[in-house]
Amino acid sequence: MSKKIVVTGGNGLVGSQFEGNDYIKYSSKLFDLRNTNHVDSMFRKLQYEPFRLDGVIHTAAKVGGVGGNMKYKGEFFYDNIMMNTNVIESARKHNVKNLVCFLSTCVFPDDVEYPLTEKKIHLGPPHKSNDAYAYAKRMGDIQIRAYREQYGLNYKSVIPTNIYGPNDNFDVENGHVLPSLIHKCFIARESGNDFEVWGSGKPLREFIFNKDVAELSRWVLDNYNEDEPIILSTSEEISIKDLVGIVVDEMNYKGKVKWLSDKPDGQFRKPSDNSKIKNLLPKYKFTPIEDGIRETVKWFEDNYPNIRK
Ligand code: NAP
Ligand code: GDP
Repeated sequence: MSKKIVVTGGNGLVGSQFEGNDYIKYSSKLFDLRNTNHVDSMFRKLQYEPFRLDGVIHTAAKVGGVGGNMKYKGEFFYDNIMMNTNVIESARKHNVKNLVCFLSTCVFPDDVEYPLTEKKIHLGPPHKSNDAYAYAKRMGDIQIRAYREQYGLNYKSVIPTNIYGPNDNFDVENGHVLPSLIHKCFIARESGNDFEVWGSGKPLREFIFNKDVAELSRWVLDNYNEDEPIILSTSEEISIKDLVGIVVDEMNYKGKVKWLSDKPDGQFRKPSDNSKIKNLLPKYKFTPIEDGIRETVKWFEDNYPNIRK
């Protein structure tokens, strides 16, 4: 009997990168993962398929940038805590032995000694701008550890930094910085209006390409079995100002960039320590950010207007 892996959030930025016969995906229209009955139905259905369910990669989440996180705190808390709780518990009830749960570097405390390591998740409150999302995601770590301890399951978590790539959500109000910048730069180029960027440009972020995240988290599913989560990061920081420079170059934008100082800067920086994944996979080559942005811009231009936005 063949083996398959369920990818929750299979249409998303990360989920879309799991391609081929190994994977099975369902849309939120079929199974709303906030609903316990839907999640149980999904796992029950999988038991009657002509393949053996060999693991879960749980990427589904309510996700957004600093704008969305500040505006929809209730939804970010409820949706994420329900999805994680339901998926992990139902996987256990249906005898799934192997699961990867997605956290985020937002889970870390705001006031903490840098760099961020896997040991520092619970050392203080997260940044106010995304605390509802962060606390809901932190509980994923607690649930995974509890289930490992009580049930001896090979469940674990990954902590990616800011992710980007083809198939992102290009919502300019609520999305993450890179897809928002690409979309806004495109609108400015086509309309002749200024390209409006939020904040001071000084904050620093680390970006990882969605294909790298998919490859690494599949590796984690197959090869990693520890209670401590694992950070997925290049550990290379870039300022928002420099990021805007790359987007402007790749989009061939010749107009003016206008900085909106009344818009939020969010957390100043969240530098992460990637030594754990580096020690486990010393030869892994992360996609350089310029190459990743070039591929994302091409995908955006090729698919516009049929993009998530
Ligand atoms: P995304 O592109 O927004 O995709 C999220 C997916 O979750 C969508 O495919 C959506 O399914 C699914 N989903 C949302 N609500 C659902 C519900 N109620 N029931 C079922 N499915 C639901 O997100 P992403 O950027 O790929 O993020 C993947 C994971 O990485 C998330 O856990 C996120 O927290 C984490 N992460 C993301 C970033 C980042 O920068 N993007 C950074 C760090 C960590 P449908 O399309 O079918 O509605
Ligand atoms: P974060 O890493 O969780 O804070 O989320 P984001 O992906 O939203 O990144 C936020 C950083 O990018 C902040 O410093 C913002 O000021 C900056 N930024 C600049 N322009 C934009 C934009 O159009 N959208 C978003 N989301 N952030 C922007």
